[in-house]
Amino acid sequence: MTKTVAIIGAGMAGIAAGRQLHANGWTPTLFDKSRGIGGRLATRRSDHWRFDHGCPHFIATDDRFQALLDSLHHRRSLHIWAAGGSIGQPGMSGAARAAAGDLTVIGQAEVTAVKKTSCGWRIADRDGVIEAPGNGAFSALVLALPSPQIMPILKTADITIPALQNVVYAPCWTLMLGFETAPDLATPMQRFDHGPLEKIIDETDKPGRAGTVVVHAGAAWSRQNLERDKEDIAAEMLALFQAASGLGTAPSYKSAHRWRYANVERSAAVPFIWDAAHSLGLAGDWANGPGVEAAFLSGHDLAAEMSAAANL
Ligand SMILES: Cc1cc2nc3c(=O)[nH]c(=O)nc-3n(C[C@H](O)[C@H](O)[C@H](O)COP(=O)(O)OP(=O)(O)OC[C@H]3O[C@@H](n4cnc5c(N)ncnc54)[C@H](O)[C@@H]3O)c2cc1C
Repeated sequence: MTKTVAIIGAGMAGIAAGRQLHANGWTPTLFDKSRGIGGRLATRRSDHWRFDHGCPHFIATDDRFQALLDSLHHRRSLHIWAAGGSIGQPGMSGAARAAAGDLTVIGQAEVTAVKKTSCGWRIADRDGVIEAPGNGAFSALVLALPSPQIMPILKTADITIPALQNVVYAPCWTLMLGFETAPDLATPMQRFDHGPLEKIIDETDKPGRAGTVVVHAGAAWSRQNLERDKEDIAAEMLALFQAASGLGTAPSYKSAHRWRYANVERSAAVPFIWDAAHSLGLAGDWANGPGVEAAFLSGHDLAAEMSAAANL
C-alpha cells in the first residue's frame, strides 16, 4: 500500500524529510505558506539586487549533510564563499530548490488545522480541507516548522508535546541595502559582540550579489524592537550601520525584514519527535539546533525512523 505523507514546511528540515521519505518508498507532498521554498534559506529580489536576507551561509560537520552539499556543489547550486562556509546559487533559496529536486511542493498553502481521522491525516487552511491524493487523507503527517508555529497547529488536533514548550528562538531584524557602486567595506563579514548590531555582511563577493549589504541586529535589540514599524527600523538600522562601518554613501534601496524565529537559543535537545501512535513526526532546527545542518539532520533522521516504523 502507498504510504502518503503530508510535510508542512518546505525549509531544510521539511526538504530533508521529503528526500529521505521519497527514497524510502513514501509519497511525500510538501506544503508551504510562502510562494517559494527554503524558509530561512531565503532570497529577496528587488529590481536590481538579490539579497540573502535570512541565513547568510552555513557549514557541514556531519557526513550526511556534507553528501548533500557535495551534490549541490556539483550541480552548481552551491558555492564556497571566500568569507567562510557555503552559500546557495543564485541565492540561498537556490540551494533549497535544488535540494528539493522533483519533490511535490505546494506553495501558498498555510496550514492552520490538522485532524487525524480513521482514514488518516487531513490538513486544512483557512478556507477548508486541503485535498490529498488518493483517499483524501495522508498516512502520516510531518510538521517541519519552528516549534512556536507547530504548537497552535497541533492544538487543533488536541495534541500537546511538552518538549516543544521549552524551546527558545532569538528574533532577528535584518536590513537589506542596495548600492549602485559596491561599497568598499573592510571585511565581507563583520561581527559585533556588543551593541545593537550583530553582523554586517558585504555580499559583493557572493556571485550575483554585487552592491548588496545585509545587516543583522542582535537578539537583544531585535527583541526590544520586535513590534516596531519596519520603515522606522530600516531608518534606525541604516544609521547604526553607517556609524559602525564609517560608510556615508546613501543606499539606493533599503528594506527591513523581521524574523520572529531566526536562531535557536535553547533547543529541545532531541533529534526529532516521532509519535508512532498518531503517525506524527516533528522536525526542525528547534530539535537539536541551531542552524541549517541541525534542521537537515532532524528531518533526515525523522524520515529514517518513520521508514523503519513502517517497515519500508
Ligand atoms: C537572520 C538569520 C541568520 C541565520 N544565520 C545562520 C547561520 O549563520 N548559519 C546557520 O546554519 N543557520 C543560520 N540561520 C538559521 C537557519 O536558517 C535555520 O536554522 C534553518 O534554515 C531552519 O530550517 P527549518 O527547516 O527548521 O525551518 P524554516 O527554514 O523556518 O522552514 C519552515 C518553513 O515552514 C513554512 N511555514 C511556517 N508556518 C507554516 C504553515 N502554517 N503552513 C505551511 N508552511 C508554513 C515557512 O514558510 C518555512 O518555509 C539563520 C537564520 C536567520 C533568519
